[in-house]
Amino acid sequence: MNMIDAVNHKLALLDEQSLTRLRRVVESPCAPRVVVGGRSMLAFCSNDYLGLASHPRVVAALREGAEMYGAGSGASHLISGHSLAHQLLEDRLAEFVGEHLESPRALSFCTGYMANLAMLTALGADGDAEIFSESLNHASLIDGARLARAQVKVYPHADVQALGALLASSNATSKIVVTDSVFSMDGNLAPLPEILALCERYNAWLVIDDAHGFGTIGASGRGALEHFNLRSQNVVYMGTLGKAAGVGGAFVAAHSSMIELLIQRARPYIYTTAAPPALAHALLTSIDIIGSDEGASRRAHLQALIAQLDRDLHLKRWERMVSRTAIQPIIIGSNEEALRIGAGLYGKGLWVPAIRPPTVAAGTARLRLTLSAAHTLEDVAQLTAALNELEDLR
Ligand SMILES: *Cc1c(COP(=O)(O)O)cnc(C)c1O
Repeated sequence: MNMIDAVNHKLALLDEQSLTRLRRVVESPCAPRVVVGGRSMLAFCSNDYLGLASHPRVVAALREGAEMYGAGSGASHLISGHSLAHQLLEDRLAEFVGEHLESPRALSFCTGYMANLAMLTALGADGDAEIFSESLNHASLIDGARLARAQVKVYPHADVQALGALLASSNATSKIVVTDSVFSMDGNLAPLPEILALCERYNAWLVIDDAHGFGTIGASGRGALEHFNLRSQNVVYMGTLGKAAGVGGAFVAAHSSMIELLIQRARPYIYTTAAPPALAHALLTSIDIIGSDEGASRRAHLQALIAQLDRDLHLKRWERMVSRTAIQPIIIGSNEEALRIGAGLYGKGLWVPAIRPPTVAAGTARLRLTLSAAHTLEDVAQLTAALNELEDLR
């Protein structure tokens, strides 16, 4: 076999298992209604939970940021790329989530993926470090744990007892528990108060990935720590800024000493060009909106949309997972049926992604619909009517 044949063989194997992924080209801004191939589609697939990605104030702030700071940062943070815009954003974020931490400080990143690699490699660098990782964690946490070269122990989903037993039997001087707060493919919440109690008891760090919680949960949108009313110096908190905040990037907030360690030691932080400062400038407006009355009413509308799904979706064969967040999965089972239903919805002008293994466990292929405060009640009514109809057609 020549080299290209070998690659094509791998692709053919994916195709046989209905695992080939397809990118669709979106020709309009991120919003519930998008243009794809010249056709208007009603989309339930973005992570723009609050509808800020196309918010006029955020877009205006991005334009203003470009005028103030130019297009690019020009260098990594430790050379000359750390702009006043980044510093103001970090100060604002530290203040925003700071009441849940001791001696809070925040550090901004280009992406959540890199923030996770940075946290876990910096924390897991000690010779005998152990990472205790929740089984449904996001791929970026799994990769971060691998890159850290620490011992990794995976505990079963939401199983506080199993985690406690692992911590109790560990002799590591550096223990790191890591979990998503809102699980990306299921939409449910991790039992963070119980997990934090264990971390405090066993002197473990608790790394929380709040990619789907920041902006969407907690009365003022401060995320999982506010939702559960937690405060601890053991917490290393990661929030993404490309989901509810509508722009891009991420941040870690933690005790100031931990943040200093990341700046000094985390290679995914040190060896990359700082994000364009205009993004940081736009994010100041996003954070203002998230914490304002407007943010609260956007979160309330999101809950009204979820309540409407509860009321109008009548599933018989498929299973809707219990979720009070914007992530609303419907388990179909087989890859083929999930793809067929996804295509059926698409034919009706509704865009809902089918999620298959390895992103989720084999036999649990699903439709993962995500709601946004930019959706209307009518949008959701259109979706539930189509789903109820497609489930009846075998
Ligand atoms: C999206 C996501 C990330 C990655 O964040 P990006 O900013 O998109 O790189 C990390 N963790 C979870 C749970 C996510 O959903």
